[in-house]
Amino acid sequence: QAKTHGENLHFYDASMDANSTRRLTILADLGVAIRSNQLQLHYQPRIDLATGACNGCEALLRWVHPEQGMIPPGDFIPLAEMTEMIHPLSLWVLREALRQVRCWLDEGKEIAVAVNLSARNLIDVRCPALIQSLLHEFGVPNHLLEIEITESALITDPERALQVVQSFHDLGLHLAIDDFGTGYSSMSYLKRLPIQTLKVDRSFVKEMLTDEADAVIVRSTIGLAHSFGLNVVAEGVEDEATLQALCNLQCEQAQGYHISRPIPAAEFDAWYLQRRGN
Ligand code: C2E
Ligand code: CA
Ligand code: CA
Ligand code: CA
Repeated sequence: QAKTHGENLHFYDASMDANSTRRLTILADLGVAIRSNQLQLHYQPRIDLATGACNGCEALLRWVHPEQGMIPPGDFIPLAEMTEMIHPLSLWVLREALRQVRCWLDEGKEIAVAVNLSARNLIDVRCPALIQSLLHEFGVPNHLLEIEITESALITDPERALQVVQSFHDLGLHLAIDDFGTGYSSMSYLKRLPIQTLKVDRSFVKEMLTDEADAVIVRSTIGLAHSFGLNVVAEGVEDEATLQALCNLQCEQAQGYHISRPIPAAEFDAWYLQRRGN
């Protein structure tokens, strides 16, 4: 008995070691990545469904690792989120996104950027002042920065998160709840948070034309948002028929591969120019 127990324990320890070693490697490499230009932002355009115009985008983080190539955000952001590493990471994203918005402004384009923040950022009471100083540094009007937060980011410490979100609102930042409908107590957040936008999760949008349950969820979310005076961004729009259906449902904005994948700034500029020409 004792032997089996010991073996199991040993096996368990070894796998934990392998896992934590890999995690530590990723985290250490990430520290280097932030300092040595291995990170990039891709921008996914968001269009206004009524006019077809693009006046905003979402910044999505990419890591081009010197040996491993492109590492998707899902493979390193959750790790960074478990540690303090998320702070320098989010700071890098904010700085890079605002630098880009500044470039666009200098070219006569007013394009808002949405940045994803994590739970740890939302319970950091220094976060609003930090963001304000970055906006000031780049001379970007506050309303051109949008903050996307998920419901799960709010549950760690709802009181503190609410305080930080309220400060964002007081700064005039635009606030959106991301992945709406996949979280825990969506309704209570609607009541308490000073937000402007709901982003319907792409898991519902994806099959809204073929799955009646998804259609009901998308329709109800849009209705609910409008009752609260909020606007709706549908994410994950992959075809024209879905785009049309969302338009008919009075959804305000859309994002998805059908419009454009997330792309580097240079490609975004080309896409934007072509779209404006149309
Ligand atoms: P998210 O915030 O929900 O971002 C949307 C994800 O959906 C992106 O994946 C985007 O590439 C993908 N997407 C957009 N349109 C479509 C579509 O039409 N079809 C499909 N199948 N997918 C679509 P990505 O870039 O891999 O990012 C994954 C997640 O990583 C994001 O989900 C977000 O939670 C997180 N993330 C990305 N960048 C950052 C960041 O700078 N900070 C933080 N905290 N999280 C980030
Ligand atoms: Ca997002
Ligand atoms: Ca989302
Ligand atoms: Ca998501």
